Amino acid sequence: MEVKELIFPGSCFFCLTKTDFAWCEKCEKDLIQDITRCPVCARRSSEQSVCGACLKRQPCFNSTEVLLNYQFPANFLIKSFKFKNKPELARCFAEKFAEKLKRNVALTLPKTIVPVPLHAKRQRERGYNQSLEFARQLSRHLGLETNTSLCKRTINTDPQSSLPMKTRRKNVKGAFSLCSSIIPEHIAIVDDVITTGSTISELANLFRKAGCQQIDVWAIART
Ligand SMILES: [Zn+2]
Ligand SMILES: [Zn+2]
Repeated sequence: MEVKELIFPGSCFFCLTKTDFAWCEKCEKDLIQDITRCPVCARRSSEQSVCGACLKRQPCFNSTEVLLNYQFPANFLIKSFKFKNKPELARCFAEKFAEKLKRNVALTLPKTIVPVPLHAKRQRERGYNQSLEFARQLSRHLGLETNTSLCKRTINTDPQSSLPMKTRRKNVKGAFSLCSSIIPEHIAIVDDVITTGSTISELANLFRKAGCQQIDVWAIART
């Protein structure tokens, strides 16, 4: 499998087959792999049970669902989505993500989904918040409300991807604040890529402390 060029919509990102989706059915087999992951944090694991890290230190969120494995070829798509002004890819990610959620009939969906906020300055520079674009498309597929007024990013932190793993937690410490005293009991926090989970943990912790009972995390990809 190789990456040709992103000509979307119109043709597959990888092989240029004509399609109105971002990738064709053939390339989807390489893109969306069935990987066994911890149900709480979505780290790769050998069996579908709670991983050692989550057993040792229970995260402040309840579950994590991801669509893609953040390595070749998915990383190319996500980088285009984030950095090459391709917000329309959100439609394709959301459609497949919603299908995945719907296959889990035991799942109780939240009524509210909360995209990880970007700092206002960063959002102006990029022109869009990729997590919000993904959340909006998920709302459409799942009939849920996207709420952007519950929290905001008060500190314009360095991009996590630019930092070594061990300083990421410190980098996002205190980066968010809640803007509402009325917090839903059940939410899904929506992010683009989870690497160490520091950003999600920081935000989830605020909602947990404010009384949120069930916090699900939905991301396009995880490393
Ligand atoms: Zn293809
Ligand atoms: Zn885990």
